Amino acid sequence: MRSIRLESVSKLFHGEVVIDKLNLEIPSGKFFALLGPSGCGKTTLLRLIAGLESVDKGRIFLGDDRDITNTPIYKRTINTIFQQYALFPHLTVFENVAYGLRLRNLTEKEIEKKVLSILKTVRLSGREYRNITNLSGGQQQRVALARAIVNEPEVLLLDEPLAALDLRLREQMLIELIDLQEKFKTTFVYVTHDQSEALTVADRMAIMNADGEIEQIGTPKEIYEFPASTFVAGFVGTTNILKGILKIEEGQFIFESQNLGDFLIFSPVKKSWMVSGVECFLSLRPEKIMITKNKMEGFSNHLKGTVENIIYHGQSTKYKVRFANRKTLTVFEQNEEHFPHEYIDYDDEVNLYFQKENVVLLER
Ligand code: ATP
Repeated sequence: MRSIRLESVSKLFHGEVVIDKLNLEIPSGKFFALLGPSGCGKTTLLRLIAGLESVDKGRIFLGDDRDITNTPIYKRTINTIFQQYALFPHLTVFENVAYGLRLRNLTEKEIEKKVLSILKTVRLSGREYRNITNLSGGQQQRVALARAIVNEPEVLLLDEPLAALDLRLREQMLIELIDLQEKFKTTFVYVTHDQSEALTVADRMAIMNADGEIEQIGTPKEIYEFPASTFVAGFVGTTNILKGILKIEEGQFIFESQNLGDFLIFSPVKKSWMVSGVECFLSLRPEKIMITKNKMEGFSNHLKGTVENIIYHGQSTKYKVRFANRKTLTVFEQNEEHFPHEYIDYDDEVNLYFQKENVVLLER
């Protein structure tokens, strides 16, 4: 397994910049997810690492020192799996997986041993001599995985590999992918526009914005709990973004929101831009807000509003709460059925409570 380092990499298509002086470090032996909106340049980045596109400016390194910027694809020890698995339809499962090994001039015995072993790992034992066309989508995806992993690449690039599968199968395959990565310790780079997929699989993840810039890199928990910008906060999970002004009075942070009054807030990290009078934003996750018709004590912040919309999601309920100035907030409430539940209906007057530690202050 190897790390990958991109140094000031740029890529243009027909004179238009898609990736501009991008720096990125992908750690070795980890499951790394690259998450971003459609069209932001994720596939392009992957194709540059694979060698399927050439870099216009900058350098790409495999490991600490191997400059692969101009190395041809077949010498890169990097494999790629795309959404279209590109399996050979006229070959059996066994021959699809053996294909790369045959190019390496291994003996028939070595090939058989490796192929059978990897097919066992991806739970395709007993299907070795089936035709590809007789397999389900999930099974075909497992063949594609086996074919990529059997060559023992140092890096495996996965471009939305599960997009063609239904939700159930996708969830199952995600777990299998995590197991495979842990078993082989190959560096996985997983590209997706689906935030829940990225949060599930990644040890570390990078968030790319619509301009092809990396906005933040971190563990899924860091990114979810401490987003670096309103873009990241809104793209990874659901959040309420408020605009306002920061006031600092005797060391106490107060956020004067444009629409909803003042809130007490606590920021564990004091950044240099956090000065009294600065215009900034607040991210308030819907699940951090307590919704009730009752009066509660012990919360830093309180708002009063009217329920405008209710969507039942099974394990949780989503409320849209409207305030006097028509501003709304989204609130998620867990549906815990083991104690009497307060019944909240459309047009009910409700109290919203949240703690000062449960918000994130953002510069942009
Ligand atoms: P998606 O999530 O929809 O797959 P993406 O983030 O992977 O999107 P890319 O496929 O990398 O995005 O595309 C980034 C931009 O580059 C898009 O505007 C796309 O139209 C453009 N682009 C990609 N490949 C080419 C190409 N071969 N020629 C011209 N433009 C291209």
